[in-house]
Amino acid sequence: MFNPATIQKLNKLPTPFYYYDLGLLEKTLDSLKKESGKYGYTVHYALKANSNNEIVTAIRKKGFGADCVSGNEVKRAVECGYASDHIVFAGVGKSDAEINYALDQDIFCFNCESLQEMEVISGLAGTRTARVALRINPNVNANTHKYITTGLEENKFGINLWELETVIGRMKTLKNIQLIGIHFHIGSQVTDMNAYKSLCTRVNEIQEWFVSHKIPLEHINVGGGLGLDYHEPDKNAIPDFASFFKIFADFLEVRPGQKVHFELGRALVGQCGSLISKVLYVKKGISTSFVILDAGMTELIRPALYQSYHKIENLSQINNQRSTINNRYDVVGPICESSDCFGKAMMLPETHRGDLIAIRTAGAYGEVMASQYNLRDKVKAIYSN
Ligand SMILES: *Cc1c(COP(=O)(O)O)cnc(C)c1O
Repeated sequence: MFNPATIQKLNKLPTPFYYYDLGLLEKTLDSLKKESGKYGYTVHYALKANSNNEIVTAIRKKGFGADCVSGNEVKRAVECGYASDHIVFAGVGKSDAEINYALDQDIFCFNCESLQEMEVISGLAGTRTARVALRINPNVNANTHKYITTGLEENKFGINLWELETVIGRMKTLKNIQLIGIHFHIGSQVTDMNAYKSLCTRVNEIQEWFVSHKIPLEHINVGGGLGLDYHEPDKNAIPDFASFFKIFADFLEVRPGQKVHFELGRALVGQCGSLISKVLYVKKGISTSFVILDAGMTELIRPALYQSYHKIENLSQINNQRSTINNRYDVVGPICESSDCFGKAMMLPETHRGDLIAIRTAGAYGEVMASQYNLRDKVKAIYSN
């Protein structure tokens, strides 16, 4: 991904910063469009993965919708030109102000996570009608990190299956709510396609329940979560959308006239972003040597928060024929926390002060989670072309 000309250009810029390859984003979106289009599926981009205007706008231009989890994300989607009927709004804790804003925008759908929330939306809607989908907790294990597992009964998300009868009963008395569908989201960085197969089976059962209660559903939203290859970002730069959508085409029972929606975040933007940093110091310990970067958990918290792996490359040595990747380093940041570590025992070429380092697959849940802890500067973004 990093050719010598790009490296030379990046080397001149003050670090740390995020670098986004918009060409790769474009190719990823084209593949997504082709594969989802085969089945007439609608895809909404989950803005929380990366809400930079350039990225959000590029995705809108390809015709995808927006999946938001806060009022400000709804606002960002509106500002970046998304039509209000292409915006959905999920989240367990929508505030009155956020609901009011979304009602004013007349968004396509609120993905409601509790009966109480529906009562509040109905009340705030006044004389208007709010379109809602019930977010149902399918109790399906996504086999991913526990912090990003969302579809189990022990998680805070959605309405549990055993509550459905009561919720539907009560819902019928809410005048300003129109039920248009059901919604699911089992978690993020899902790489086990069997989890999606299980989701399809569960959705089919739930649909049976709605059919037996004579409640029509126009929309089935199966969420997102498709995972990325953090180990081989160049080999698998574009996620396998074909296999992903085929699972749903094969296993999800769609009734006549029903539309199927997806909400993908990470899979669209993860591989196009890298965190670029310079080596400040190389510190030799007894059993471990440390490469100390000018980027830390303030810029990219995923390793500290989820123990997640990111491939680390020394861009200054990448085209050096004589260097071999046979040095073991703990690659760390400057923050006063021992969890501020990008990777333990990472294999790199011999690394020196001033070398340019790329932390790969950082386009999703990277910059959006950045903080200014330790009074750090706000991290910048650089875009290709
Ligand atoms: C986070 C989220 C998504 C997107 O998850 P990815 O793993 O980034 O694809 C989709 N839907 C909802 C409701 C979410 O909260």
